[in-house]
Formats: sequence, structure tokens, C-alpha cells
Amino acid sequence: MGKVTGFMEFARLEEGYEPVNARLKNYKEFVIGLSPDQAKQQAARCMDCGTPFCNNGCPVNNIIPDFNDLVYQQDWKNALTVLHSTNNFPEFTGRICPAPCEAACTLNVNELPVGIKSIEHAIIDKGWQEGWITPQVAPHKVNKKVAIVGSGPAGLAAAQQLARAGFDVTVFEKNDRVGGLLRYGIPDFKMEKSHIDRRIEQMRAEGVVFRTGVLVGEMPSGSKITNLAKEVVAPSTLLAEFDAVLLSGGSEVSRDLPIPGRELAGVHFAMEFLPQQNKVNAGDELKSQIRADGKNVVVIGGGDTGSDCVGTSNRHGATSVTQFEVMAQPPVEENRPMTWPYWPLKLRTSSSHEEGCAREFAISTKEFVGENGKVKAVKTVRVEWVNGKMTEVPGTEQNLPADLVLLAMGFVHPAASVLQGFGVDLDTRGNAKASTEDAGGYATNVPKVFAAGDMRRGQSLVVWAIREGRQAARAIERELLGKATLPR
Ligand SMILES: Cc1cc2nc3c(=O)[nH]c(=O)nc-3n(C[C@H](O)[C@H](O)[C@H](O)COP(=O)(O)OP(=O)(O)OC[C@H]3O[C@@H](n4cnc5c(N)ncnc54)[C@H](O)[C@@H]3O)c2cc1C
Ligand code: SF4
Repeated sequence: MGKVTGFMEFARLEEGYEPVNARLKNYKEFVIGLSPDQAKQQAARCMDCGTPFCNNGCPVNNIIPDFNDLVYQQDWKNALTVLHSTNNFPEFTGRICPAPCEAACTLNVNELPVGIKSIEHAIIDKGWQEGWITPQVAPHKVNKKVAIVGSGPAGLAAAQQLARAGFDVTVFEKNDRVGGLLRYGIPDFKMEKSHIDRRIEQMRAEGVVFRTGVLVGEMPSGSKITNLAKEVVAPSTLLAEFDAVLLSGGSEVSRDLPIPGRELAGVHFAMEFLPQQNKVNAGDELKSQIRADGKNVVVIGGGDTGSDCVGTSNRHGATSVTQFEVMAQPPVEENRPMTWPYWPLKLRTSSSHEEGCAREFAISTKEFVGENGKVKAVKTVRVEWVNGKMTEVPGTEQNLPADLVLLAMGFVHPAASVLQGFGVDLDTRGNAKASTEDAGGYATNVPKVFAAGDMRRGQSLVVWAIREGRQAARAIERELLGKATLPR
């Protein structure tokens, strides 16, 4: 433990942000990380709990008290080793993880939690700056080939683990660049894409082969899922050519809102809008782009994807941005005795909300109102929730001007056609059915086919995808070699 009295002496320090007017001018990251001295002081707040709830609250079980102590001692190199021992990509989670570890931190019972995410961010950025992160090439090959379908954080984590254990790994990605939603979905201002490129370079040096623009199986017909494939490979080809296949294709079917006017121009899924801006930021020229400039934008869906649409619309120069959430507004402060150490229900205000956005809660959209085939307004009604049931409040219908409507209501399940192509059973929610039990974990009903990440667990978080990728790699190792040496 760094400093016994640290938690009493030092207040929690948040990472800084560039001012709103400066950051709205571009798509660059704007978070100002902690300096080494600040990180040391923040790490001193850690109480090195006998039962570190943070470690359990973290889906990859980061060994948080240990790296906090090492940062307090300014032993950054060993802090990086501890961090990497459970997480392949701390530069992703250090930027965009909602940090369930902090909700679980013991200090959060009656104080502000240790700034675990900001410390993680400081460690990994220092590691890259100092050149400590280099390829870890397997000492020997095991002569087994593994195909990974999908290059999101689940596929990448599995690929890196397996390559380091000596497997020949090929990652198939239908889009033109690697990274899954980290690349096409999550805005550059939350995470610049150079972080992915740097890891891919490391993974190539470790022996991972990336085949981009290659769709494995089929996309559902008429689907709006981003698909930039120029080549198609049949599932049967992968099954014939590889010793094991990991399906980590994400949960890509967006939830729709089939109300009158859905067909109007100007009503789009968030996942049509956001990837286009990622491509423009990458220097690609698009034939056309869904733009928010000078428009009244309505974002339907109060979660993270909706908040990313808000931030992107404001950078485009929208006239107004309004975000709808059908649920009632949650309390500003969580009920800690009731919720700790679990993820609490409370009002979350993102940096994108702070940049300018009207937020409407307990509101439902009944119709998209159009003029000459284009959306012009949304017809809404206030709703009440009684015993978990939603009822409309009579007399509260109104029209709100809207020239661009973005549907950000989450994802229902993965593309069924991809899973069907392999003959994989689905669970009741339409995800790939594969248990996470230790023996036989992540295995589907089809011999040598495994599933991980959002494709298995449904729409989730980057940190869960990394965990599942790591664990699936271990399951594949055990299946093909009869023993598992990879860490969980
Ligand atoms: C807009 C948005 C913002 C988000 N923000 C956050 C955040 O701030 N923090 C957080 O923790 N989580 C966030 N998430 C959730 C997080 O991105 C996902 O949980 C995570 O990326 C899932 O990882 P994955 O590897 O399972 O799948 P994905 O990242 O979805 O990657 C799947 C990849 O598989 C490819 N693929 C699919 N089918 C095929 C096929 N048949 N052949 C070849 N390739 C295929 C896809 O093209 C895709 O590249 C966000 C999600 C969205 C949509
Ligand atoms: S729960 Fe909080 S105070 Fe306790 S070990 Fe973890 S980070 Fe430190």
C-alpha cells in the first residue's frame, strides 16, 4: 500500500478536458490525462483493501491495488506489466471504459472512488511513450491454425493471446479497416484510431494475419449493417482450412422504430451516421455523407451511442440537438447503500452532453412527420412508468422540428445469417449459444466453433469483449492442445 493516510489527505482529481469551443472544432481526443505526479497522488488514495472490490468489479479483473501501489512508488514499468497481465489493450479501456471498477471501489461507499481509470490511462500512455511496449513473439509454434471472424476488441484480444501461445492466427474482417466498433462506431474524439493502428502493428509482428474486406458467410438481405467487403469466404471453407474458428462478429442488428414515417429521408440508424464520420476522419472520400449541419437533430435513445451522435452532430454544426430517452430521468446521485459495489442507476452526463444538447426523459416517439418525402418533425407523447409498464399521458402530444433523426436504441442481436452459415444454435435473445463454464467454455454446438464478445453475450462493453476474447483463446488452446496455459 502506497500511503496509509492517502485517502484522507488527497481529494479525487478528475482528468481535464479541453474547453468546449476548442474541442468542437475538430474530432481529436480532448481529455488531458494526469501528470505522473498527479497519478502518484491519486494512486496514494488506494487503501489496498483486504478484499479489493475493484478487482471483482472489473470484468478483466485488473489487479488494481498492485498497479496503484507501483504508480505510487513511481515504478511505472512494473505497473505496466501488472496492467498488461490481465488486459491486452489498456489504451482502449483507459479511454472509453465506463469503469465499473470505480463503482465497486470501497472508497465509493462514502467518498469519491479512486480514479482507477485515469491511473490506467496514465500507465499505458507512459508505456507507449517510453517504448516499453514491443512485440512478444511466441518462442515456438504449435502448428495449429485458428480463424477469427471479426476484428473488434473480442477478436483482437483472442488473436493476440493465441499468437503469443504459438498458434497461426488469421483474422477475417468484412470492413476495410481492423477494429470493429472501436474503428467504425466509437467517435474519434473519444478514441483516436492511431491507438488501434499501433496495436495492429504489434500484433502483425507477433504473427497475426489480418484479412480485411472479407465477409465470412452472408449478411441479412437489405441490411443497413456496415459491410465494406470485396470478397466473401464460405463458412465451410474456414471449417475445412482451420483447426478452430472463433466467431466474434459483434451484435450488429440495430433496434428499429417501425412507426409511421420511418421510410422518410433523414431518418437513419446511428450506425449509418457514426461510421461515415470515422471514415471521413480517416481521410476517405465519401460519395455522400449524412450530415447534421444547420439541422435540428433528434437522437432517439439515451445511451452511449446516442451520446456519440450528439457529439458528432455538434461537431457538424447542428442548429439544435435533442436526445430522447423513454425511461424516466434517473436520480442525480445513486443510492449507495443500496447499489454498492454494483453499477448504480444514476443520471450520467457525458462530455458530449456538456457540449450542447437538450435531454428529454419519459418521452416516446409516435410518428415521423414528413414533407416532400423528408422528415420535418417528430410527434411525441409524454409517458409514465407504473409497475414497469409504460402508459402515455393524455394531452401531452406535441411536434418537435427535426430534419435529421438518429435511431440509437441499441442492438438486438448479431446477424443471424452469419451464425446460421456455421449451423450455430442461437440463445433466446438471438445471440450465439455458448456457455462460459470453464470446461468447454465458449464452445458452440458445432465442433471446433467458438463464440465470444457481443456476438455471444449481446450488446455490451469493450472491457467485456476483451475478457471474452482472452477466455475464448484459453478455451481454444485447451481444445486443440489438451491443456490451457494462457491466463484467463
Ligand atoms: C457507437 C457506440 C459507442 C460505444 N461506446 C462504448 C464505450 O464508450 N465504451 C465501451 O466500453 N463500449 C462502447 N460500445 C460498445 C462496444 O463498442 C462493444 O461492446 C464492443 O466493441 C464489442 O466488441 P466485439 O469484438 O464483440 O464486436 P465489435 O466491436 O462489434 O466487432 C465485430 C467486428 O466483426 C466484423 N464482422 C461481423 N460479422 C462478420 C463476418 N461475417 N465476416 C467478417 N467480419 C465480420 C464487424 O465488421 C466488426 O468489425 C459502444 C458501441 C457503439 C455502437
Ligand atoms: S477497492 Fe478502491 S481503495 Fe480498495 S484496493 Fe480497490 S482501488 Fe484501492
